[in-house]
Amino acid sequence: MPDWSRDDRDSTVSTRLGSETMSELDIEHYRRRLLAEREQLSETKATQHEEAATVELDQSRTGRLSRMDALLGQAMAQEQERRADQELRRIATALARCDSGDYGFCVDCGEPIAPARLEADPAAELCIRCAEAREH
Ligand SMILES: [Zn+2]
Repeated sequence: MPDWSRDDRDSTVSTRLGSETMSELDIEHYRRRLLAEREQLSETKATQHEEAATVELDQSRTGRLSRMDALLGQAMAQEQERRADQELRRIATALARCDSGDYGFCVDCGEPIAPARLEADPAAELCIRCAEAREH
């Protein structure tokens, strides 16, 4: 029983310390999200690879219409894979920035990126103003 109370106190202390040292941004929180997202993308990619392989097999023993469907499906699978690769690169960059201490700051203007924006997209590397400026 005394062990329980000590555990509780320990976790409270470490939480408080954590919020003090990371008063602006909880990098570890975003790092965990980035890692989870990376894992999910890798899984999706693996599944898509299997699907693309299945499409090729079907193609040889079905009619022209199905063949077109198959090709379309394959093109879509390739496009999805391309996007997944792009996203994986963004995540890798964001993780590197976690390590270098640049995470959470806009790569263009150096201003902090709004936490709400990082919450929606942990791999975001531009503040909302610079992101909008690039779109226009
Ligand atoms: Zn900016």
